[in-house]
Amino acid sequence: MGKLKLSDRQLHALVESIKLGEEIKPSQQAKRKVFERYRIDGWENSKLTGIFYSIQRRLGLIDEIIQELVGVSPLILDPWLRAALRVAVEIAVFRNPNEKTLQHLRGLAQFLSRKTHPFTGYYYYDVLPKIINYVPKLDSPEKRLKWEYLFPEWFIRKIRTIIGPETEDLLRALNSTLPLSVRVNMLKADVEQVEAFLKRKSIRFERSERVNTVIRILDPFNPGVLLNRGWVIAQEEAPALASLVLSPKPGETVVDLAAAPGGKTSHMAELMNNEGKIYAFDVDDVRIKRMKEVLKRMGVEIAEIIRADGRKAPEILGREVADKVMLDAPCTSDGTIAKNPELRWRLREKNIPKVVKLQKELLQSAWELLKPGGKMLYSTCSLLVEENEEVVKWFLERNENAKLVPLRGPYDEGLLPGTMRAWPHRHGTIGFFYALIEKED
Ligand code: SAM
Repeated sequence: MGKLKLSDRQLHALVESIKLGEEIKPSQQAKRKVFERYRIDGWENSKLTGIFYSIQRRLGLIDEIIQELVGVSPLILDPWLRAALRVAVEIAVFRNPNEKTLQHLRGLAQFLSRKTHPFTGYYYYDVLPKIINYVPKLDSPEKRLKWEYLFPEWFIRKIRTIIGPETEDLLRALNSTLPLSVRVNMLKADVEQVEAFLKRKSIRFERSERVNTVIRILDPFNPGVLLNRGWVIAQEEAPALASLVLSPKPGETVVDLAAAPGGKTSHMAELMNNEGKIYAFDVDDVRIKRMKEVLKRMGVEIAEIIRADGRKAPEILGREVADKVMLDAPCTSDGTIAKNPELRWRLREKNIPKVVKLQKELLQSAWELLKPGGKMLYSTCSLLVEENEEVVKWFLERNENAKLVPLRGPYDEGLLPGTMRAWPHRHGTIGFFYALIEKED
């Protein structure tokens, strides 16, 4: 491949769009705005857009390199300087620039001085040679995988302890794009109706083999009309399976302890044929607002939304009131990275104990709500043992009439016998964990 050639103007446009991308979300809007101002279009646009996205994808790694070279987190630097350093690392470390482009990279110092303060220009000029001569120390398997697949090292280390030789397959699956999946809402439509709609529009699709109301849409498609009619909801196969595992029946009393935006609440109402009662708890106002809209659109009549901490639910509703409890717990969500690629750089190892504590407290609250003989599902979209098997083990050890109801497929057994895991690389969906627990009479 030839060497990368970039002009002054192109570098300026990149730095400005990376800087504005911190302020305007989604960042592609910032890019569009800046590129228009610089009159960048056609082939030049595709080339620079590719570089822009590649910086966004690698951002965590790029920032680690900057920190290693300057000794402080780039997040405390001047925003113009930070953007220029990010562009410089992308081009000098990850690409193969020609000599002229390297010169233009040096020229960014003057651009910075003009945009902010001469000091930032000097600072940048000083750091640039270190960036150009940077050689990564790939002295452990985790470092090599981090470089190749762009995940935090601690995350790769944890994944390796869970799945060993399949680590690379899993990381690759997290990096690939999943097609849009929708679950048909049987309260308003049926699967054949939705399939006929897609056929009329010449959109290719396939039906999930594991959840027969889930359809994977294989062509670019805006599901707006189907969503507005309440015929479908965007939902992956693995979370759609959760309500089937808990299997609430018409007439039952159900508590959904972490319900917004209502994916599982609406599914459970469907399985209950809109008969019985679902108490749907959540704490997030924005998500609750969305849940209200979703449930209305989908024709759910039996859900009562309660804006409160799920840990307070037994105080609010009373103890032993529920036939079924759904605890689709707040989690690190690392199993969904294929759907949210930038999430990987927001994962923090130090946040895990905090979220685990919340999961345990919510699980204990779910237990108090449950009638003797009732069942609860603990699920997460995390791959980490700490948030899954370890939480369930902790819970079973301290509640002796709690019994794990063994799950036998359609996915694989979890690391604790009787639990179940959906794996992105084995099952082509997001990472998901399930543990069904019964309160013995
Ligand atoms: N079950 C939902 C669905 O299927 O659409 C997704 C739930 S999401 C995995 C976890 C939810 O937990 C978030 O909406 C979050 O606002 C909520 N949450 C976080 N802390 C909570 C708490 N203490 N009590 C109740 N909900 C909480």
